[in-house]
Amino acid sequence: MSSPPPSAALAGLNPAQQAAVNYMQGPCLVLAGAGSGKTRVITHKIGRLIQAGLKPEQIAAITFTNKAAAEMRERAKSLIGKSARGVLICTFHALGVRMLRQDGGELGLKPQFSILDSDDVTSIIKDAGGSTDAATARQWQWRISAWKNSGLNAAQAEAQAENDEDRTLARIMARYEERLTAYQSVDFDDLIGLPLKLLQEHAAVRDKWQAALGHVLVDEYQDTNATQYELLKLLVGARGGFTAVGDDDQSIYGWRGATLDNLKRLPVDYPTLKVVKLEQNYRSTSAILRAANNVIGPNPKLYPKTLFSELGEGEPVRVVDCDGEEHEAERVVARIQSLRAGGELQAVGSQHKEWKDFSVLYRANHQAKVFEKAFRRAQIPYKVSGGQSFFDRAEIKDLCCWLRLLSNNDDDPAFMRAVTTPKRGIGHTTLQALGNFASLYKLSLFESLFSHSLGTALPAKAVGSLQEFGRYLNELEYRAKHTVGAEDARVFLTDWLKDIDYEQHLYDAEDSEKVAAARWSNVMDFCDWMAQRCGGQIEDAVGTTMEKERKSMLEVIQTIALLSTISEREGEQNVVTLSTLHAAKGLEWPHVMLVSCVEGLLPFKLDEENELGTNAESIALRLQEERRLMYVGITRAQRTLSVSWLRRRKKGRDMIAGTVSRFVGEMGLDKTTVREDPHEKIRALRAEFAQRAADGAAAKALAESKANF
Ligand code: ATP
Ligand code: MG
Repeated sequence: MSSPPPSAALAGLNPAQQAAVNYMQGPCLVLAGAGSGKTRVITHKIGRLIQAGLKPEQIAAITFTNKAAAEMRERAKSLIGKSARGVLICTFHALGVRMLRQDGGELGLKPQFSILDSDDVTSIIKDAGGSTDAATARQWQWRISAWKNSGLNAAQAEAQAENDEDRTLARIMARYEERLTAYQSVDFDDLIGLPLKLLQEHAAVRDKWQAALGHVLVDEYQDTNATQYELLKLLVGARGGFTAVGDDDQSIYGWRGATLDNLKRLPVDYPTLKVVKLEQNYRSTSAILRAANNVIGPNPKLYPKTLFSELGEGEPVRVVDCDGEEHEAERVVARIQSLRAGGELQAVGSQHKEWKDFSVLYRANHQAKVFEKAFRRAQIPYKVSGGQSFFDRAEIKDLCCWLRLLSNNDDDPAFMRAVTTPKRGIGHTTLQALGNFASLYKLSLFESLFSHSLGTALPAKAVGSLQEFGRYLNELEYRAKHTVGAEDARVFLTDWLKDIDYEQHLYDAEDSEKVAAARWSNVMDFCDWMAQRCGGQIEDAVGTTMEKERKSMLEVIQTIALLSTISEREGEQNVVTLSTLHAAKGLEWPHVMLVSCVEGLLPFKLDEENELGTNAESIALRLQEERRLMYVGITRAQRTLSVSWLRRRKKGRDMIAGTVSRFVGEMGLDKTTVREDPHEKIRALRAEFAQRAADGAAAKALAESKANF
């Protein structure tokens, strides 16, 4: 094993960062504002720990998203070379999956359990609660999830219920839990809750994990929830070998159960905790940082911080006032084209003019659409992150259900979707009878297919078609096990889709041929992506061929359920990022456009809550979280930041007058708003012509990124 040269782990760090990296005796907390190099501390500390003698396998670094994990893996690799591969760099959820696949047997889970996505959960909860109303089921789901996140099971929730409504819900939760056990399935909350239970109740497993992990590093610590904190405590044991980094001003997942109590509790639970503060921001110009500091100013301080930048004053922050959302999208396009054309960038001294240097950030998913349309028109390649993922599309979910079923035959929700998509003449009555039979004999739906007594519950014809479906699944599973490498995988996938006549199904289901064709093209993308994951000779985006580790189709399928739900697709692309503020956490871009900063959108719907008379304290807390979100948005920008707002905006079906967000006022900028800049338009036009003429590179990039549309 090659260890890094002694200086590598400490190079490029300031003294405070070095102190955090060098401190390996016990628990350590790095508490600092945005862009101060917290994530960098984690990456370098991985190197330092290896240098100090830990094996890469003894180190775990926990990130907030799979994307952040992929980025950290890259950074660690360039810092410490190959040994980075052995380090476990993943999200809490992915760590949970790993723990359950290894040791979930202690809790009665098979190694091939399924991971349910949110829609699966809604339909099971609907069933458990005897409701046909999705909105009600989702409300239940939300509350059950909150209980689970605060460590309660159904029995405990019932014991502490204060009214009939809660008691009823706790009983629905009990039935929901029973179903998950029967289906050998877990939901997202279980990916944290069950590993915690495992460590709490099984000393041998706990000892094993504590011995295996020498040091655990946690990024974005401010957004952990109570269960994640308990899990962390049990993973590191009394020795407390961990480093947490975070910023209370960037805590933006309170609505999902994250709690700043975890920050407050650390010094109490670990009296020897070493706290390191970082004060220099390496990301943004002074103009941007000042705006950020001004915005966060009015929030109450858990830990006071000062943050300065030595990158110079830079461009003033622009406030752009727009007539409406289409106009705003046009302004964004013009701004990107103008910055890429370069005139302005020379003035800023910035070289950053690749597509990937730009991002457009907004508060809510639905806001992406108008920018997507404008970008397509202007042939600007882009990706949407934080919105509806590719994998949330109905056609991809259909296919994932089939695949999940191959990996875990007992996954009943997947069974139901696969057996009915496409329709194969097995009707509702047959399926209902099969369901009753399965619960009577405590079998999964799949197991029931081959039970000798199925004939007593169903007519011979129905049994025949069900068994035919079962045989087909078995055959498919066998083929998946013996299909290795991308080339064979493509054959496997094509044959399967032909067998089930999936393309025809899409055309039958859609009135519009265009929509059906778009959906089929998503299916093709999906197959391509799956095939690539099977390894062998792979061609990357720029056409270079390389050899990747070969895997069987079944192995790849086993990772799909998790990937398809909580990860973004990998691969850095040279495209503009459209992202929600939440999904932008931890990331940075040279040029950031923060759009639709109007009351009602940012802060989100606070005006409506005011009208509804929500209590003042909860409004104040919500406002603080929205302000932190604005702070996160501003601090993503390295070189230029523009903030735009709308004079008129949609509210439901109506158009109403827009009011500029109070946060824009709080940024403390001078009064200049950029309403229309004729020079920018001319520059943009010139840029557009130059670009079109160049070599059609944009069109090519657009084609490459079409999977994201
Ligand atoms: P956030 O709060 O947004 O997660 P962070 O505190 O994790 O930010 P990083 O992402 O680690 O900050 O660093 C911000 C930027 O500053 C990165 O581009 C990083 O490479 C750079 N940086 C961090 N520390 C240093 C340093 N000591 N010298 C030069 N550049 C640095
Ligand atoms: Mg960070």
